[in-house]
Amino acid sequence: MHFYGTAAKNAQGHLTIGGVDATDLAEKFGTPLYVMDEALVRKNCRAYVQAFKDYYPDAEVAYASKAFLCTAMVALVEQEGLSLDLVSGGEIATALKAGYPMAHTYFHGNNKTVEEIHLALKSGVGRIIVDSVHELELLNLEAGELGITPKIYLRLNPNVSAHTHHYISTGQLDSKFGIPIEMGLAMDATRLALSLPNVALTGFHCHIGSQIFDVEGHRLAASVMIKFLADVKAATGFVTTELNLGGGLGVRYTAEDTPKRPGELIKVQTDSVRAACAEYGVPLPKLVVEPGRSIVGEAGTTLYSIGTVKEIPGIRTYISVDGGMGDNIRPALYQAEYECVVANKVDAPAEKVVTVAGRYCESGDKLIIDAKVADNVDTGDLLAIFTTGAYNYTMASHYNRYPKPAVVFVADGNADLVVRRETFDEMAAFDLIPQRLQPKVAR
Ligand SMILES: *Cc1c(COP(=O)(O)O)cnc(C)c1O
Repeated sequence: MHFYGTAAKNAQGHLTIGGVDATDLAEKFGTPLYVMDEALVRKNCRAYVQAFKDYYPDAEVAYASKAFLCTAMVALVEQEGLSLDLVSGGEIATALKAGYPMAHTYFHGNNKTVEEIHLALKSGVGRIIVDSVHELELLNLEAGELGITPKIYLRLNPNVSAHTHHYISTGQLDSKFGIPIEMGLAMDATRLALSLPNVALTGFHCHIGSQIFDVEGHRLAASVMIKFLADVKAATGFVTTELNLGGGLGVRYTAEDTPKRPGELIKVQTDSVRAACAEYGVPLPKLVVEPGRSIVGEAGTTLYSIGTVKEIPGIRTYISVDGGMGDNIRPALYQAEYECVVANKVDAPAEKVVTVAGRYCESGDKLIIDAKVADNVDTGDLLAIFTTGAYNYTMASHYNRYPKPAVVFVADGNADLVVRRETFDEMAAFDLIPQRLQPKVAR
């Protein structure tokens, strides 16, 4: 079994994370429970920061909030000196609530509403990443009315396909994200941006996808972007000073996954930028990257209580847990794979092959197909699924009206609640019964 970060096992054969026994976490906070290994999050943040110190000091690391966000995460990111990448009004509001310095934020989104644009302008986000010509014109109008001139990047589509599942690949030409460099579309948008009075074009952005192991896509994207900066300089005289290369580094979910380390990615990207700047004759821009998954993915573990154990002789054994697609949609959404351990039986031989099923009313609600678990797995045991730190809590739903689980940060033997568990009352708290449904019919 693979232990991530501070995960280990103690003398009782229990899983520990951040020096805290998983069975104590389950008892104190209930299940399902998201557990975040704070030391590993910090280590991942520092790996990016250090890589830039080593290879390319004029740079900024912006954590991509959509991977995992709550106010404590904002505070942690701020402590580590990272900037923040935000994609919605709700994410902006969370950063504001945590008192984050908004000048260090990057605001994305392929279909920002007028309300979100207002919120971004009024809250002073550092850069607005404009995704389309429509948005460019809208932003220019709204900014003019507010008398604000936001610094903007244009998000470009470099037509580089990342080797990853097509649902999470964004850099190919046929994508809803970004303005294609092909067909002169990005150049047209650049000319327009330079001509508009109420936006200050400051740089360009691309993001080619997520859960990427082969960094050749990143190498190519960096050089395609620099070539574009050179074309812009030649065509308009505009010298670009900032370039945002997005996120996308993969993490380990199972033994088949062999992700590159942050330092390896940053080396490839910065080498590519330097080489292309020399080749095309443009000055080195300030670089920004936006890692999400590779900051929090491996740092998260979800704890579940095992309920029903159902053996269909000769077919399959299902162990059902008290969570599922409501707290982790990724297996149902794109066949994502995970590893697990029976957290109170870490020492037991683990040769029993089972399917870990959720409690939601969908046959597709299976968290792991053919997981190997402790031979003596039983009702009442605690199951830990690893690498659930990214795109789990942030994608959680209320399907079947199950409340969203709590989130705890663990570090140095301490466990602190950072998101409390929702209650049944809260599930119905937003519901209203209109007047015409009020008279009750006797029966
Ligand atoms: C999702 C996203 C990221 C983060 O991607 P990861 O794969 O989680 O590193 C970065 N930038 C943009 C624009 C994104 O949409």
